[in-house]
Amino acid sequence: MVTIVSACGVLCSGCPAYLGDVKGVAHQQRTVAAWKRIYGLNESVENLACGGCLAPDDQVFHTCRACKARQCCRSKGFRTCAQCSVEQCPDLEQAQSLWDGVPDLAKTLSREDFMIYAQPYCDHRQRLAEARRALAHPTQ
Ligand code: SF4
Ligand code: SF4
Repeated sequence: MVTIVSACGVLCSGCPAYLGDVKGVAHQQRTVAAWKRIYGLNESVENLACGGCLAPDDQVFHTCRACKARQCCRSKGFRTCAQCSVEQCPDLEQAQSLWDGVPDLAKTLSREDFMIYAQPYCDHRQRLAEARRALAHPTQ
């Protein structure tokens, strides 16, 4: 699968919502149940689908749709905020801060649950920082 990273550095292509409709109803049902159990979310099975952060609004999962960093990247034609020269951007910080607590779930979830339902939302700051470095120094 192609690697899709969100504006803020989350691994969209590892998110269970990514192409959830293509993965099928059983996958969507499992994910809805897991998200309720883990995150307390009440999602409907038919809504459990997403084209990734930078897809058009009607193809993005509703919790990510209104993200200002996502909207800003789309308006500027960026794939991620790593392409932006703005430093210490409040919109990016707000987007990234949403995911900062996810690694702590490793203390309570089974390894399998963590890998499927939490790992894609971890390491986002590091992923974006590495992308920024790679763009600044393309030969390294
Ligand atoms: S729900 Fe959010 S994190 Fe998951 S694929 Fe969509 S934009 Fe990415
Ligand atoms: S201004 Fe902020 S939100 Fe917009 S692309 Fe730059 S870092 Fe991302």
